[in-house]
Amino acid sequence: MNFSPTIYEVLKTLWWVIPMMLFLAFLGSPKFKGIFGEALVKVAAWLRLPAKVYHPIHNVTIPTLDGTTQIDHIFVSCFGIFVVETKNMKGWIFGGENQKQWTQRIFKKSSPFQNPLHQNYKHVKALETLLAVPPETLHSVIVFMGDSTFKSPMPANVTRGGDYITYIKSFRNPVLSEAQVQKAIAQIQSGRLTPSWETDRQHVHQLKNRADPNAERKCPKCGKPMVLRTAKRGANAGNQFWGCSAYPKCRMVQNIN
Ligand SMILES: [Zn+2]
Repeated sequence: MNFSPTIYEVLKTLWWVIPMMLFLAFLGSPKFKGIFGEALVKVAAWLRLPAKVYHPIHNVTIPTLDGTTQIDHIFVSCFGIFVVETKNMKGWIFGGENQKQWTQRIFKKSSPFQNPLHQNYKHVKALETLLAVPPETLHSVIVFMGDSTFKSPMPANVTRGGDYITYIKSFRNPVLSEAQVQKAIAQIQSGRLTPSWETDRQHVHQLKNRADPNAERKCPKCGKPMVLRTAKRGANAGNQFWGCSAYPKCRMVQNIN
């Protein structure tokens, strides 16, 4: 008896099952959820935050005193500059404004994670250093994407899904002039590292290296080695710091830690 015609018939009708399963597995992967979550934030913004008023700048890596910091989304407007951190998480979320660790619970499994407000505070501070705007015009916004529920009362700037837009739109008093808005955009564009896989890789690399004092330090701005120098002037005279070996072409400095 010959089975092959039957197998052929089955394959002919069910050929799509394997690609479909691979596709579904991809949809369930954390990488896809990350990409999807970021895309949702962008689409929601595109639909409901007019780009002429809320100038969007996505995935911004900026040099800081001790390496680099990565900001998911920035919206620059006359109503303020909104610094958005996205979290792709499901389950129940417990946390409070001043708690160091928050908790994610899925069924009976609890996992701690860093308070995203603290994480985003560093981003806001880095932008404050880069921009010449009053600090009170910078706003931290946290967006939880994915199927999560807040199980503790959250401050207004901790949001779920598209609710972050309502929060951003609740600021109605102009605090920056159009000239200040344009200047801030230009400063972010010139101060950021070129968006690329290489920039992302370097950022992850330096996060690991920061803990290791013997690792070779590379300049986050230009990639040349960093060298130890001693401050000659100012309040820090006599103290050592890391300076870019390409000085004076590149003026990157980092604290010793
Ligand atoms: Zn450099």
